[in-house]
Amino acid sequence: VHQTHGRPNLLLVTVDTQRADHTDLYGYRLPTTPRLAAVGAAGVTCDAAYTVTPTTGPSHATLLTSRWPNQHGILKNGFTLRPDETMLAEILAGAGYQTAAVVSSYVLARTFGWDQGFGVYDDDFAKKEASYRLERWEGLEVDSPAFDRRAEFTTARAIARLEAAARVDAPWFLWVHYYDPHAPYDPPRLSPDLPAPRDATGQLPRAIAAYDQEIRYTDDEVAKVLDAQDRLFGADRTLVVVATDHGEGLQQHGWMAHGANLYEEQVHTVLAFRWPGHVPAGRRIAEPVGLVDVVPTVATLLGVPLPPGRCEGLDLSAAILRGVAPPADRPLYFQRRLYKEGDKEGLPVLGDVHAIRAGTWKYIEAAAGPRELYDLAADPGETENVYAREPARAAALAAALAAWRTAVPPPPAAQEVSPDAAARLKALGYVQ
Ligand SMILES: [Zn+2]
Repeated sequence: VHQTHGRPNLLLVTVDTQRADHTDLYGYRLPTTPRLAAVGAAGVTCDAAYTVTPTTGPSHATLLTSRWPNQHGILKNGFTLRPDETMLAEILAGAGYQTAAVVSSYVLARTFGWDQGFGVYDDDFAKKEASYRLERWEGLEVDSPAFDRRAEFTTARAIARLEAAARVDAPWFLWVHYYDPHAPYDPPRLSPDLPAPRDATGQLPRAIAAYDQEIRYTDDEVAKVLDAQDRLFGADRTLVVVATDHGEGLQQHGWMAHGANLYEEQVHTVLAFRWPGHVPAGRRIAEPVGLVDVVPTVATLLGVPLPPGRCEGLDLSAAILRGVAPPADRPLYFQRRLYKEGDKEGLPVLGDVHAIRAGTWKYIEAAAGPRELYDLAADPGETENVYAREPARAAALAAALAAWRTAVPPPPAAQEVSPDAAARLKALGYVQ
């Protein structure tokens, strides 16, 4: 079928656990993501993009609803999206789009409501395509033969969805989620362009080399989906959005994985838009933006109306299309996922942690722990807490954070899950 409708398609690629600063697009010293760099060169890159929380479920829920965790209710993995949440796929299906998703982790299985609005939702995790399987996770019985799917199998399934979409004369939305950079770091093949893990000295450098190889393996698989898209439809027919859901600690602040703190290595994400002929090539947006901005931005770019009054994010389309800078001092908010006693044995994960970035300053407030203030312009690695030196600035940020917490209170009865999966979570890297 020849595509005669003239409406743009949407390909959303989310890569799990891929630290922005470990990608070529964000200046990494190794060629981990040549294809992502090409997406950025052909389109617009958000240099200071953030997730509200460095955990897969809550982050994707905010990305796909433009709502905060306290609103959509996904305060940790294993919680279920309510049917009354309006997701991007529902908005696009309502506008006549064919909708399909291929996800790579049980965290995003339809059991938890992620399939709302999708005509096809591929969360079929076969043992022969997986890295690992779990019987119990987050206190739940895993009703799936495996827990995840390797990138190469996800790519094959995504290309099959594109081929199916090409047979129908209607615009389409395809969401492809990749999981490989997530622990365990066990790349199924090694790129000769990067150091081999066995050649690194020491446990942490070996782990980081393996993590980087997983990123490259995934990027090579993303490239195949983009090639199929461009071959079947033409690059100018489809808005491509690439994002990561969160980063990875890599021991920068004492944590290997993600979820437990709100430092840059965990909350800074990739966010790039490609649509040749519409989105200019090579533009970079320096001002802070959030994954919460994706839904309103994409809706405007595609020309699809949004249901009124539900989006918390900013429409970045003017910044993307015309270079109109978003406000540099716009506050962005962060909250740690919900932890229950026993989730992380012996480590301080109990109690809330919230943070705010405004301008180049970041303030972190833990229920149990010192207040922290960082000047990201001078100290992007958040190594020097200047809270005591900047009391007025810290107080202003604390007040703004408190106002957000008051405006967006936690749901009255947060869904409870049993904490008895700690040992298996440890194997997954959710617990150190
Ligand atoms: Zn994730």
